[in-house]
Amino acid sequence: MPGYGRALRRACPRCGHSPVFSSFYDLSHRCAGCDLLFEREPGYWIGAMIINTALISFLFLASMGLGMWLFWPDVPWGWLLGGVITLNAVIPVVFYPLSKTLWVALDLSFQEAAGERERR
Ligand SMILES: [Zn+2]
Repeated sequence: MPGYGRALRRACPRCGHSPVFSSFYDLSHRCAGCDLLFEREPGYWIGAMIINTALISFLFLASMGLGMWLFWPDVPWGWLLGGVITLNAVIPVVFYPLSKTLWVALDLSFQEAAGERERR
């Protein structure tokens, strides 16, 4: 199983080397530990954006559902919607770097399943 735990710790999903980010958002071009090329091709980070969008969609539905469940039948719709929208504006920005390392880990698992061991 590829390194999803390493990815969640902002480390290289393949070897665990850290840091792999040159700043909060900027993932290095290659891993200094195992020379893994992170961005394999143009448009590669669309997978990270899909992970981020899936997470925020789930969080939107879960937080709305939880809010409705907690306050039913007197749901404070304005406050609930304002809180959920604020949450949905902040979480994707904070989570985006992790979505990149998680996408690399998922891509590595696809490669292992396909029998590819080496990356360019
Ligand atoms: Zn590495």
